[in-house]
Amino acid sequence: MIEVRDLQVSYGERTVARVPELDVRAGECVAIVGESGSGKSTTLLSLLGLTEGARVSGSVRVCGVDVLRAPERRLRELRGARVALVMQSPQAALNPTTRLGVLMRRALRLHGVAAGERALAAVCARAAEAVMLDPAILRRYPHEISGGQAQRFAIALAIALGAQVILADEPTSALDVTVQAEVVGVLRRLREERGLALLLVSHDLALVSTIADRVLVMREGEVVEAGPAAEVLARP
Ligand code: ADP
Ligand code: ADP
Repeated sequence: MIEVRDLQVSYGERTVARVPELDVRAGECVAIVGESGSGKSTTLLSLLGLTEGARVSGSVRVCGVDVLRAPERRLRELRGARVALVMQSPQAALNPTTRLGVLMRRALRLHGVAAGERALAAVCARAAEAVMLDPAILRRYPHEISGGQAQRFAIALAIALGAQVILADEPTSALDVTVQAEVVGVLRRLREERGLALLLVSHDLALVSTIADRVLVMREGEVVEAGPAAEVLARP
């Protein structure tokens, strides 16, 4: 699902991320860990061609799309439907004056997922259930739900659109501990039951150890360690 070779991202003269190799297959979770400023987010955003102003070289394939060479139209399709980008505060990205269900139906219609009102409603309800959200929540406005619910709504939307890859940048760092566990539970289930590929950026090693199969450690823009999660996290 994700195949990166010799990725190099620079701002001006400064190279902020160098990733020789990164693969995430269907049903697999890979985590990128490292201190703030080590190049994690830059790496993640470059998978969708979202590093504005940067010089990017190497090869990046996501869901079969050659990201560094694809026309903007294919990148929009990739971002809109096939890859879900889950950020720290999803609420900020939701239109505050529109009910969640309306937002979801609008997105589904836009991407031609389902036609009739009833079919749309069914897809929405199933997506909510897949992330363990009460479908009644779809009648609420974005500010009426919690951070954890918003995070799960963002994931539900991606699932309804048929996303095969989830890119998550510190998805739980704005949430309290019990809510973090819910979001992690949802991500884990999606990967096991639906074979989604999950790339997670986090500085939270406890979170990473509960979900990742493999881990890349970044430091000052370089991958300094990579391997199975149990091995990498056991090192001092
Ligand atoms: P995080 O540590 O959570 O990745 P940052 O504070 O590093 O967040 O970055 C937040 C946003 O600011 C990102 O969109 C990033 O691209 C941008 N950014 C970070 N550093 C710089 C910089 N030196 N110049 C311009 N934009 C930057
Ligand atoms: P992390 O996600 O590990 O916190 P980032 O990928 O956000 O790290 O940032 C890596 C480095 O790239 C940081 O030094 C940051 O300041 C720099 N950077 C990020 N975005 C920009 C940008 N738009 N312009 C210039 N520098 C940036």
